[in-house]
Amino acid sequence: MAEFSMNSKDFFTALETDQLIGSHCLDCGAMVVPQRGICPRCLGSNTEIVSLSGKGTLLAFTVIYVPSLMMAQAGYDAKNPYCVGVVKLDEGPKISGQILDVDVSQPESIQIGTKLIMTTIKRGGEENEKTYLGFRPV
Ligand SMILES: [Zn+2]
Repeated sequence: MAEFSMNSKDFFTALETDQLIGSHCLDCGAMVVPQRGICPRCLGSNTEIVSLSGKGTLLAFTVIYVPSLMMAQAGYDAKNPYCVGVVKLDEGPKISGQILDVDVSQPESIQIGTKLIMTTIKRGGEENEKTYLGFRPV
């Protein structure tokens, strides 16, 4: 993982190539995503960057009908809502992201505990394109 640093922008650089990175504390074992130079559990700085599988489980979710400006620009609105969830990664840490390929017209059909795999979502057009983390059911 030498190609990535603890700089937060490297989290997104990794996403551009479909890689999910986090950090592992060599002192207390905590796993964190995105990666951090200082361990949030023991405050130590003996951390290393790790590659994560991108596999996880849906812990919580919401269906959003009133989008942020960025999501409105991506075409979402009250008639075209989207799902955002909190995902517990197989390696332990939790992260949020858009949940794709679920039936947002029937939120009751979306199940806590669903096994998910990461995907990436590109938004912003050619000039301002950014890559975001998303998940879809396995
Ligand atoms: Zn630690």
